[in-house]
Amino acid sequence: MTPTAHTRLALLLGDPVAHSRSPAIHNAAFRALGIDAVYLASRVAPDDLGDAVAGLRALGVLGANVTIPHKQAILPHLDALTPVAEAIGAVNTVVPQPDGTLLGTNTDAAGFFEPLRPHTRQLNGAEAVVFGAGGAARAVVYALLTEVRLARLTLVARAPAKATALADDFAQLDPRRLLAVLSNDDASAAVQGATLLVNATPLGMHGAYEAETPWPHAADFHAGQIAYDLVYTPAETRFLREAAARGATPLGGMAMLIGQAAEAFRLWTGRTMPEDLGF
Ligand code: NAP
Repeated sequence: MTPTAHTRLALLLGDPVAHSRSPAIHNAAFRALGIDAVYLASRVAPDDLGDAVAGLRALGVLGANVTIPHKQAILPHLDALTPVAEAIGAVNTVVPQPDGTLLGTNTDAAGFFEPLRPHTRQLNGAEAVVFGAGGAARAVVYALLTEVRLARLTLVARAPAKATALADDFAQLDPRRLLAVLSNDDASAAVQGATLLVNATPLGMHGAYEAETPWPHAADFHAGQIAYDLVYTPAETRFLREAAARGATPLGGMAMLIGQAAEAFRLWTGRTMPEDLGF
């Protein structure tokens, strides 16, 4: 569809944005559903974020996504936050309201949990381990605390103090005190005992980290486990390869990427993103 004077604009704000798959996903969905809108990626330097958010308001955009490094920095520039964005402490989706104000929400948690939904029964009463304690780990922890009844949720991080701070932030959502923190050196038993293992670090990602894995002790993997890697390039990371070789069920990060996009798309357009867009 050639843009016209009626075409609505959706934007990604990040720095860098050149690697992003979001324009391809959203534009394919707009095309598939005949929605007269276009999604562009805009590189916004940290000092310009406030102006960029004011620009979203002034331009009357259809919606916006926010990515690294702005997911937390954008909070004070928005008019309101959903409870999920508030709990996670980060926004990845901006939803303009009918009165012109900007609502910040977070669709990463919903996108993360969508591929796990068929495994819900297996996860209830089970243990999970999350590698990493950054922004994505916060969305993962939120989803796991609110969507299933785990028996234990262990954060394994190279900087345990950061993971402990994350656990403290989620204390209200964790009345049964499921969250525990371990360093890499102490986590073998927790990894062996976990039904769900989640990589929320960049280890394994295409580029400098490709040969790496959050858990190099492959003998700890076994059948009955789900190995979920948030990294989506490459589709099969070392973590997924080694876990699958030991009988675990591998889940790559592309389904989460599509899931978070689909939820943002629904909030902006009221429409369901088509499932098979070829990603
Ligand atoms: P982040 O906020 O920078 O957090 C990264 C985490 O990984 C931190 O805990 C960091 O530890 C740890 N880490 C970084 N380098 C490490 C290393 N060399 N060894 C051990 N730990 C290391 O990043 P994020 O936003 O959470 O993203 C994490 C990953 O998830 C990225 O690969 C991102 O692409 C992916 N992701 C995927 C989706 C999706 O839709 N599939 C969505 C969001 C994110 P320190 O705090 O000690 O640095």
